[in-house]
Formats: sequence, C-alpha cells, structure tokens
Amino acid sequence: MNSFDVCIIGAGPAGLTMAMELANQGLNIIIVESGDESNLSSAQRLSDAEILTPTSHEVMQDAVRRGLGGTSALWGGRCVPLDPIDFESRNGIDGSGWPIEANELDLYYKRACEILGAGEPSFTVNACTSLTSVDTLLSANFDNNDTIITNQLERWSRSPNVWKSFKKIITSHTNIKIQPKHTCVGFRHSQINTPVTDILLKRTDITNSGSITIKTKFYVIACGGIESTRLILNSINDPLGLKLSNPQLVGRYYMGHPSGKIADIELSGDPKKTLYGFEYDSSVYVRRRITFNINTLRKENLLNIAFWFDNPPIADWRHGSGMLSAAYLSLTAPLLGKFLAPTAVRKRVAGLYGKQRLHHLMNCITNPFSTIGFCVKFFWQRYIAKPRIPGFFTYSPKNRYALHYHAEQSPNWNSTITLSNELDALGMNRAKISLKWSQKDIESIIKAHRLLDANLQNNNIGRLVYRIADEKLYDSIEEQAVDGFHQIGTLRMSEDEFTGVTDSYGRLWGTSNVFVASSAIFPTSGQANPTLTMIAFVVRQAEYIANIFHNKDCHE
Ligand SMILES: Cc1cc2nc3c(=O)[nH]c(=O)nc-3n(C[C@H](O)[C@H](O)[C@H](O)COP(=O)(O)OP(=O)(O)OC[C@H]3O[C@@H](n4cnc5c(N)ncnc54)[C@H](O)[C@@H]3O)c2cc1C
Repeated sequence: MNSFDVCIIGAGPAGLTMAMELANQGLNIIIVESGDESNLSSAQRLSDAEILTPTSHEVMQDAVRRGLGGTSALWGGRCVPLDPIDFESRNGIDGSGWPIEANELDLYYKRACEILGAGEPSFTVNACTSLTSVDTLLSANFDNNDTIITNQLERWSRSPNVWKSFKKIITSHTNIKIQPKHTCVGFRHSQINTPVTDILLKRTDITNSGSITIKTKFYVIACGGIESTRLILNSINDPLGLKLSNPQLVGRYYMGHPSGKIADIELSGDPKKTLYGFEYDSSVYVRRRITFNINTLRKENLLNIAFWFDNPPIADWRHGSGMLSAAYLSLTAPLLGKFLAPTAVRKRVAGLYGKQRLHHLMNCITNPFSTIGFCVKFFWQRYIAKPRIPGFFTYSPKNRYALHYHAEQSPNWNSTITLSNELDALGMNRAKISLKWSQKDIESIIKAHRLLDANLQNNNIGRLVYRIADEKLYDSIEEQAVDGFHQIGTLRMSEDEFTGVTDSYGRLWGTSNVFVASSAIFPTSGQANPTLTMIAFVVRQAEYIANIFHNKDCHE
C-alpha cells in the first residue's frame, strides 16, 4: 500500500480522470472506491443524508451513485463550459470571483471534451462546421443584438458512463491500482501547513472491520461535492484529523441551479426555421441555448441564466399529442420507466404519481400513426444507434415551445452542508443538508424572462406566454427549484487562505498535499452544468501535481 505516489479517493468522473492523467505522467496511483461494479447497497447507503430542505433537495439515492464510475451512471451527459463572467467578481453578488481567469481553463476544455466523449470543444454554432443551417429565425434577428445570444451550444456526451468508457484503460494501466469496496474514513495530519501523512480506510461491506492505513505523497479527495465535504467535516472533528486554515467555511455556500419552466416561447415566421431540438456535430448531439450578453448581465445585475426550447409538459394530457403521451406512459410504467431514465429525471419530466393514464392512452389511440412512428424512431435513436439521442423534442407547427431555464444560484452563507448526529454504518456522521434559494436567485430569473420577452417583442420575433399568473411566478420558481445533482461551492477556492477552503489548484488551505477534485471547489455556479468544467479543472490539477512531483517549475 505504501508504494504509490498518489491516493485518489473516489472513482467517479473526477477521480478516474485524475488517475488517468497522473498515471500517463508516470505517477503510481491507487484509487480507493466505496462501491464496485455492481450496485453495492452498503456503499450506496453511506450517502444517505438528513435533508432539512426536502422541497429544494433531491433524496441522495437519486442524486448520487456510489460505485465505479460514480454518478456518471446516472447523469444526462450535458456538457457546457462556464462563461467568462462566471469568473469575475461582480457588484451585488457577494462571494463572486474566482482565483483564476476564465482563459486559464480554456486550454483544458479540449481534453475534458475528449474524456467525456463530447467531441470538439466547439460551443457556438459558428464554430461547428457540420451544423447544416445557422440561419434560424432567432439567429437571423439576434446575430448583431447586444443583449441576446442565440448561437451558444450545449454538447452531449456520446458515452456518459465513464467507467464503461475507461474500464479497459484503467484496469490494464500498469501505474493504476483500484481498491473497490473500501471507504476512506479519515486522515492523519499532525500540524497545520504540513503534509497529511496517512489516510484511513474501512471495508464498505463488512461491519466493524478494522481500518487500513495508506501513506502516499499526495491525496486527492474526489468523492463528489457532498461526500467530499462530509469526509472533510468528519476529519476536522477528529483530533488526529485535518487541520485547516478555515474550517468554519467548510460546507458553507452550498449551491446548485434553480431550473424549470414558467413560460412558453411563441415565435412568428416560418416554424421550420426554428432549430432548437437536438442536432448533430462531429459525432455528438448538440442543442442551441439562449443566453445574455456579458454586458447585459453586468448592466442589469443579473445572475447568469440559459434557456432552451422544450416539449410541452408531457404529464399534462391536454397537449393532445400521442407522442408525448406515449413518452409519459413509458416513463411512468413501473418496470419500463426505470430502464428508460434515472428516477430523478422521471420525477421531473413525468411526475411519478400521475393518475391520468386513461387520458394519455386516449391521446395515443386517437393518433396511432404518429405515436407508433415516434416510438419506433425513438427506440432506435436511443437504444440502438450510436451515440444515443439524449432525449426527445417534438416539432411545433404552431411555433410555440416550452421555455426551460437553468440559472445561477448566488453564493449564500446560510445554504449549508453540516454534520448530522446520525452515524453511517462505518461510524461517520452523515451529512445534514440545507439548500436555500435566495430572493435574488428567484427575482433574477423573473427579470431575465421579462428582458427576453421585451427583446422578442421589440424585434417582432415573438413573445413569451407565461404559464403562471404574475403574482404566482415567484412561488412557482421556488417550487420548481430542486437540485442536489449539481453539488457546488462548499469547498470554495480562494486567492488567500482567509477567504476560502482550497487554493487556486483545489489544494486544502492548511495542508500541502491534499487536493479536492470536485465541483465543490467552484466559488460560483454559473448557468452551466458543472461536470465539463470540473473535468477541465481536474486535468489542470493533474498537470500541477505531476509538475510538483517531477520538481518542475511551479508554485508549490
Ligand atoms: C440524474 C442526474 C443528472 C445529471 N446530469 C448532469 C448533466 O447533464 N451535466 C452535468 O454537468 N452534470 C450532471 N449531473 C451531475 C454529475 O453527475 C456530477 O457532476 C458528476 O458525477 C460528479 O463527479 P464526481 O466524480 O465529482 O462525483 P461522483 O460521480 O459522485 O463520484 C464520487 C465517487 O466517490 C465515491 N466515494 C464517495 N465517498 C467516498 C469515500 N469516503 N471513500 C471512497 N469512495 C468514496 C463514490 O462511491 C462515487 O463513486 C447529473 C447528476 C444526476 C444525479
């Protein structure tokens, strides 16, 4: 156990990326993972948490997966980089500002896209040579607009489960050893600002097993946002454990993304020119998003936000579409549903307990040809064709679509992960989660809709049609905002040891050799889903650790 250079705790996308990058630079790696290739229930149960805000936070069984590949067994695979404004310190957004510039990460997105199977790092329509048409109704009118941007793209991983993608490489790599069914339960650290000497492991599947010690030069905590934070909080409470510069900041500023639908977008002009479904670029699916220009975000004091076009809510049978009803019936069918999508996604899209099956059945029966055609085509695209299509999108001849938003949450001291008094099977305190949206988070989403609507109307392109009465908008946004999938902010990076938990390379302030590889180190959340940026960051971290190891010039 002591012949390794780096011990990585956790074999999700972050841990596996770190292992491959470091092993390729000649370092000897051991990866410790609680779970294994099966769904080891003793591992999964370790993540159960006390959730104080159940209306805003998903249960842990649906928010994380413990096993080789981590939560990539559940994730959707949507890859989006952060925007330059996300790195800025912004007026009116306390706690904003990263200790690195946006362009420091640019170099690493290419490798991150490669690792996640997202093709080239091209995130605008113009950068993709294979996109057939760029002349959509929106782009034609907004191309030179200084408020709205309509040419940004999200890319979708063609191989979302990272364990399936990298199992062969990792298990055959001479520099990597994997230790599944072992859980890290603590650290040995004698004094602040010195190296951590050892970590302690226990067998996940054997109760009351003794602990094993591992001693390496570097340690990387890659347990996911919540579990990395919980592990550190537990260790801070242990007199022999971690001694950090800023223990009181660990677990503060817990962020995700408020997301949902409050309006439809209705466009004038030729509906065939509305290209906002899934398109194909260099062997991966992409989709267009609507965002705001950086100057508008600054001027309007808006939190970042992205919009995309979506189907009408499929659970509402009044849409009258056989295709959407077929999707609803499949997703809510007890056995079939589980096979089609993770529980969290099904809950969001369909609502698990809908009781309107008869109406949906009638929709299918009255539209037999389109329903059967849709089912056959979707089955083919999703389960036989490669890459699989990420979801379905139905064309609207009326040129009206549901408008989905995905917004930034501002850093909030009172949104926290702390420790519960309840212990897990290995004797560690469970996480106590309180994810809180602020008034600013919600008001900013309303303001962004108003701004988009005004721009659509002023340019005679279309309008937003609100689904909810004005006075109920605030409550509806709050009700729809449920996260726990994107675990951001609780081990925030900072320029100095007084204002954050980790330095600009994700190293814990107070240690010289423990790094955190997780979106928990992001100081702000942006509008983007976090995994792509996290992987770009891990590649940068790995380069840094390898440079220290090989004594190359870097600021140790
Ligand atoms: C339904 C769903 C959809 C999502 N969709 C998207 C999306 O479209 N785009 C996007 O960017 N993100 C998405 N996410 C988030 C994405 O899955 C996570 O950002 C990503 O998996 C985080 O990777 P990670 O390696 O940091 O952590 P994880 O994937 O959670 O892996 C952590 C690993 O560490 C192990 N571990 C934990 N504690 C210990 C310990 N003490 N000792 C040993 N091992 C330990 C765990 O068993 C686990 O295997 C989604 C998440 C969910 C649930």
